[in-house]
Amino acid sequence: MDKVIVITGGSRGIGAATARLAARQGYRVCINYLSDEAAAQATLAEVRELGAQAIAVRADVSVEDEVVHLFNRVDAELGTVTVLVNNAATVGHTSRVDEMSEFRLLKLLKSNVAGPILCAKHAILRMSTRHGGQGGSIVNVSSVAARLGSPGEYVDYAASKGALDTFTLGLAKELAGESVRVNAVRPGYIFTEFHALSGDPDRVSKLEPAIPMGRGGQPHEVAEAILWLASEQASYTTGSFLDLGGGR
Ligand code: NAP
Repeated sequence: MDKVIVITGGSRGIGAATARLAARQGYRVCINYLSDEAAAQATLAEVRELGAQAIAVRADVSVEDEVVHLFNRVDAELGTVTVLVNNAATVGHTSRVDEMSEFRLLKLLKSNVAGPILCAKHAILRMSTRHGGQGGSIVNVSSVAARLGSPGEYVDYAASKGALDTFTLGLAKELAGESVRVNAVRPGYIFTEFHALSGDPDRVSKLEPAIPMGRGGQPHEVAEAILWLASEQASYTTGSFLDLGGGR
């Protein structure tokens, strides 16, 4: 079966590392992004340089019409999706819950919870044997924050990842008899531009002393875990979580 991977938020950070590794592993690659066209084009060029057939598609994962457009482009230009990596997410500025606005909460929950569920829906319609598909795999990118709670930082974000973990468990069971596996990775502090969103681009370096392994993680270390869970090597693994937190 041809390997076709859709990576939401594939233009930067962990998603871009996953796109590069997927290209090396023989996937056709769809890089989704929200607004940073230059980053998406740069990652697309790298992935094509590695020999992969690839496209970059702008779509907000929290808007269903845009998710439909994303999967239609994949159908037409790469073939039927076999792996979905639900990686796109956002976070707000470091705050206590008593300082969070309704706007912030709804935006975050839409992107980090509704987004992955909508993307899974449109992948399932193509992958599940119930719908005439040939099977596939979904990997959700959660966070160690789901079990630590991130007090005083971004409890809303941690709660959104807790919801993603519960979604992973439920969906894995729902699809277990339909040739679709569903798993998640839970990274800890990883060196990406994500931390600028919470107000401190140097967050990972500053927090390294509190990480048992004494260092932050690299995006490619998370990509390895994502693509193992997606692969046939993980054929009996579903509803599972791989933590990449350096001991946190
Ligand atoms: P990043 O470098 O900030 O990249 C985020 C990516 O998501 C970008 O491609 C961005 O597109 C895209 N994106 C954001 N909102 C989107 C939306 N609504 N629709 C479509 N694309 C959207 O982040 P990262 O650190 O690689 O994080 C990737 C995943 O890992 C996230 O789920 C994050 O929660 C998780 N994670 C990260 C860390 C960490 O320490 N970095 C730790 C634990 C978990 P644009 O560039 O176009 O905006």
